[in-house]
Amino acid sequence: MLTSGKTAQKTLKNRIKCSGIGLHSGAKVTMTLNPAAPDTGIVFRRIDLPGQPLVRARYDQVSDLRLCTTVSAGEGVMVGTVEHLMAAFAGLGVDNVVVEIDGPEVPVMDGSSAPFVFLIECADLIDQVAPRRYLKVLKPVEVRDGQAVAALLPADEFSLGFEIEFANPMIGRQVAEFRLAPGRFKAELARARTFGFVQEVEQMRSMGLARGGSLENAVVLGADRILNDEGLRYDDEFVRHKALDALGDLYLAGGPILGRYEGCRSGHAVNNRLLHTLFADKSAYAWTTYPKSRDLGEFFSAERDYRPASAELGTRIRAAAEAAL
Ligand SMILES: [Zn+2]
Repeated sequence: MLTSGKTAQKTLKNRIKCSGIGLHSGAKVTMTLNPAAPDTGIVFRRIDLPGQPLVRARYDQVSDLRLCTTVSAGEGVMVGTVEHLMAAFAGLGVDNVVVEIDGPEVPVMDGSSAPFVFLIECADLIDQVAPRRYLKVLKPVEVRDGQAVAALLPADEFSLGFEIEFANPMIGRQVAEFRLAPGRFKAELARARTFGFVQEVEQMRSMGLARGGSLENAVVLGADRILNDEGLRYDDEFVRHKALDALGDLYLAGGPILGRYEGCRSGHAVNNRLLHTLFADKSAYAWTTYPKSRDLGEFFSAERDYRPASAELGTRIRAAAEAAL
């Protein structure tokens, strides 16, 4: 018999609907989250297009990574800005959902995952009679692009370390360390909003992007101040948002990861390359159910198997994590 927690797949108990605007299109979108059968995964259905085509939320369906993560099932059949919704599914352990959407982009809401967490909590979750499948990392893989680095390392449990460094003095260097446990995603990452710089906004608009962007759905930084009257939701909201993005990007693997992720200045494109690199080496991963012998109480405090991706990144992230204890 399957038990609750980490071993059984989960879906929504009820369907639930929301609407909002697309960050880049500026158009109004209505989205409905529907319960789905075991082993469905996260699947989008474009109900505004002929035949209501499906788009799987998978790393190998990603077609555009300029500023957000877009999944596509061919010409014109795409869904953009999926990462904050995917992070909410990852953070709350939701395996199977059919997401009906009547436009090309997930609504941006407030620029974080918090509204999606609220929706999922309202819909409630149920266990399904199928074991959860985990992607176990067996060998370290690392991707670099200039100063950006992302790595996946073998570990018994999922954990995430992230570091950013920006010249803007309102951000500077920030480090986040995150482990999944009940309530932690909601408390520690979900409310962190996307962010941008004033000088980039005009440039993005000239490219036809960020038409729906405003102080309602992003933290906007000037040279030496934050333009949002309400300020920040966390002192280190910026790195927390990058960690949230990475969690969403990684969930495009098709299931939760048993392993450690480390990112340094990495974004959607590097995270996606990391998954392609992992899946290109069949000896680097295995799909597995949750180890039966493990005590589920122990799961949430496991600290072992920590192995940094690179000396400089690992030392900094570990020091920061220790300092935070
Ligand atoms: Zn984001």
